[in-house]
Amino acid sequence: MSDAYPHLFAPMDFGFVTLRNRVMMGSMHTGLEDRFWNYPKLAAYFAERARGGAGLIVTGGISVNRRGWLLPAGGTMNTAGDVANHRKVCEAVHREGGRIAMQLMHAGRYGYHPFSESASATKARINPFRPKEMSVERVWEVIGDFARAATLAREAGYDGVEVMGSEGYLLNQFLCKRVNQRTDEFGGDIHGRMKLGVEVVKAIRRAVGERFLVMYRLSMLDLVEGGNTSEEIIATAQALEASGVSLLNTGVGWHESNIPTIVTSVPRAAFRVATAMVKRAVKIPVVASNRINTPEVAEDIIASGDADMVSMARPLLADAFWANKAQAGKADEINTCIGCNQACLDHTFAAKRSSCLVNPRACYETELVYTPVAQRKKIAVVGAGMAGLSAATVAAERGHEVWLFEAAEDIGGQFVMAANVPGKEEFKETIRYFRGLLERTGVKVKLGHRVTKGELDRAEGGAFDAVIVATGVKARVPSIEGIGHAKVLSYVDVLREKKPVGAKVAVIGAGGIGIDVCEFLLADESPQSLASWTRQWGVDLESRAPGGLVAPEPVKAKREVFLLQRKRGKMGAGPGKTTGWVHRRALEHHGVTMLGGVEYVKIDDAGLHIRADGAARLLAVDNVILCAGQTSVREIVTVDDKGRPTDKRYHLIGGADVASELDAKRAIKQGAELAASL
Ligand code: NAP
Ligand code: SF4
Repeated sequence: MSDAYPHLFAPMDFGFVTLRNRVMMGSMHTGLEDRFWNYPKLAAYFAERARGGAGLIVTGGISVNRRGWLLPAGGTMNTAGDVANHRKVCEAVHREGGRIAMQLMHAGRYGYHPFSESASATKARINPFRPKEMSVERVWEVIGDFARAATLAREAGYDGVEVMGSEGYLLNQFLCKRVNQRTDEFGGDIHGRMKLGVEVVKAIRRAVGERFLVMYRLSMLDLVEGGNTSEEIIATAQALEASGVSLLNTGVGWHESNIPTIVTSVPRAAFRVATAMVKRAVKIPVVASNRINTPEVAEDIIASGDADMVSMARPLLADAFWANKAQAGKADEINTCIGCNQACLDHTFAAKRSSCLVNPRACYETELVYTPVAQRKKIAVVGAGMAGLSAATVAAERGHEVWLFEAAEDIGGQFVMAANVPGKEEFKETIRYFRGLLERTGVKVKLGHRVTKGELDRAEGGAFDAVIVATGVKARVPSIEGIGHAKVLSYVDVLREKKPVGAKVAVIGAGGIGIDVCEFLLADESPQSLASWTRQWGVDLESRAPGGLVAPEPVKAKREVFLLQRKRGKMGAGPGKTTGWVHRRALEHHGVTMLGGVEYVKIDDAGLHIRADGAARLLAVDNVILCAGQTSVREIVTVDDKGRPTDKRYHLIGGADVASELDAKRAIKQGAELAASL
């Protein structure tokens, strides 16, 4: 038991197995599970999370047959070879005292290949492949495949399985009228539509016996048209309970939903109401999920009776030792997941190995290793933005003497501005984490100190053995007539200096920062309350209407904003696949006018003069805000014609190295990799 979070760290006893706490590492595809040669890396990744105290780990989705693949040649559980590979993973987790369940899935019409199959032959908007309608015989075959995969999982040493019944995958497709247009025993009313899921559970139970965890991830809020109502969700939960499920996990939304479910701007624990609704209707334990990232929130969900356990996938990617730190009362030492998706889900959807923006070791546990140093060096890091903070703390953790110089009065660099953007409040957690880590690793921090090259070369107590230049970027000032006009501001003036901004505004540049500035100028509250979020997106958390969808309330915009770029095509194409659409839609809710293919002519008292589609146009705005990208700041170092430092002791990282397409993911990773090599 933990004094700090007594409910979260109470064990959960199933009679045949006891979970040491209520912290579940939820399923997340990493890319490592798809290739057998990556299984030692997968084992190391999960073993670290088991060592870090997670009560139960769930693997990424493993298909029960080939037609159920999400991507061609994805991880499958149907041969003796698969059992041998997975045994390595289970053994590694058990050696660390952890428990692990395999997620069994069938992608149905989300399968990105021509052999996909589903309840009906309806195509998903997000997938070019049309599925084949499954015959009744085929449905029974698939039920058998789930049972066989569960038996093999038990043979490999898993403590249980999770049946993936949500997020719009096959079992969810059968469960909802949206996809299920069948008139046979597996279609029709909710009892027919739930039959596949119920029979899967019964078949698994028959195959594995009573002493094995069978978890079911049930969609408790579909967030799509043709989704289920609360009565249908509850009836399904009760039928699953009666069929032998040990615990029910929460699924929220389908991958094709138009409503965000996990990005930073979704309020923390937004969906606990949906979980609580099911919990009240069943006796088996229920797990809450989505946008739960701190022990305070997790504890409150369990203590209030809304759920018995919490599932966190990304937070345990961000910090493998999340549970141990919370249990020891050291929550302030947790490297908190900021919900950015940039290194996890955006990688998954680009078929790249997942990692984590704030923890580049995630899924690279055997490759990015911070070994203690044999010879202590004296290292200077110039710049306390994300690149510098990452380099300084990794170097110090390894045992080097590290000095960190920062011209500003505080750490964080560009990230401080991001943290000021409504919907990105979580970014403050990363600054809090690094602030503590600097102290714990003994980095000597000099804030408000613009260090000179002379100082670095004549340091007190001897020169530095290595100098890491992480001096970042400065805003690019485009050459437009009238750019010096008083109504022109930079994004730094707005986001950091908080200079006053008028009621009618033009934003030049529709990259990540242009969008951030729009959100900053339009938001009424920060963070957004759950009530306002559900009104804006049209969500009924208790699914009184099918799918939990209601008409969104129009947002009353407090400013008129024009977002501009010179390129034609999609605005704000920069931010990742899983987040870009959320930002674009939020701007649409606020009535932002987005103009591409724009030529900037001049700025004067009347406003911003542009040419769009060949026609001259005046945007009569009070302010023009520049978000036109950045250039590197690296005056402190002399570079050769290839941009490499001429003095071999110097190293360039982050925006000081390359300004274009800089983001915190590259900065933190580059800083950590350099510091791991010194
Ligand atoms: P960016 O993404 O490179 O966008 C710069 C914008 O400025 C573009 O829209 C570009 O569009 C415009 N531009 C460039 N040169 C210009 C010029 N000379 N005159 C007028 N317009 C010009 O840069 P950013 O928005 O500053 O963001 C910096 C980095 O941080 C990016 O890598 C970004 O992905 C990252 N970031 C990410 C997020 C996120 O949520 N994931 C949020 C913020 C920042 P045109 O050239 O078409 O005009
Ligand atoms: Fe969380 Fe971002 Fe890391 Fe993904 S990349 S785990 S969302 S912090």
